[in-house]
Amino acid sequence: MNKVLNFTLIGRSGSGKGTQAKLLMKHFGNLFYLATGDLFRDLSNANSDTSIRIKKILKEGGLPFDDLASALWMHELAYNLKEDQGFILDGAPRRVNEAQTLDRFLDFLERKETTFNLLIDISRQEAHDRLSKRRICKKCGRLIPWVGEFKELKTCDKCNGELTTRADDTFEAINSRLDFYDNRVIKVVEFYETQNRLIKINGEQSIEDVFNDILKALK
Ligand SMILES: [Zn+2]
Repeated sequence: MNKVLNFTLIGRSGSGKGTQAKLLMKHFGNLFYLATGDLFRDLSNANSDTSIRIKKILKEGGLPFDDLASALWMHELAYNLKEDQGFILDGAPRRVNEAQTLDRFLDFLERKETTFNLLIDISRQEAHDRLSKRRICKKCGRLIPWVGEFKELKTCDKCNGELTTRADDTFEAINSRLDFYDNRVIKVVEFYETQNRLIKINGEQSIEDVFNDILKALK
């Protein structure tokens, strides 16, 4: 069995998965990081029949067929993940068949027992608040989350620039992302939960407390 630790990060948009991923990488080092959102954005910038369709989906909403996300992260892991290296999947799996594909891959890599599925749990209302109220710096582009002490910021804490809300954080876009979680991702949560393979973390606390709870749960 491979002894390195691997993580999947599951949670509603706005739960802070990306932030916790960064903290995990800092803490454990040598983790290969993969965000499915980034993979789809990269694909949309390629020059292919598929990329044209993905570009449209990213812009107008909708879903690619079920296997595409799996194909993308599997390709990345298959080509890049070193034997002594763990990985973080940020935002995957988001469908049950994707979770099953990942399980087969983990079996093959002998990493199933060392892979922790972390649910950063926040309510739909909390997610909605965070997504609609989070702000972005006009000057440096830093995204300021609507959480903890960041709520009090009047200007950017990095460059002092003016803060504004994001244009793509519209009511419809936010609701469609949250609907996707409630309709599809929740089934992945249940899939891991019934197998006792889910670590549920209260995501409605400060960034530090969320991370401390993750470390506690891993012991
Ligand atoms: Zn700034």
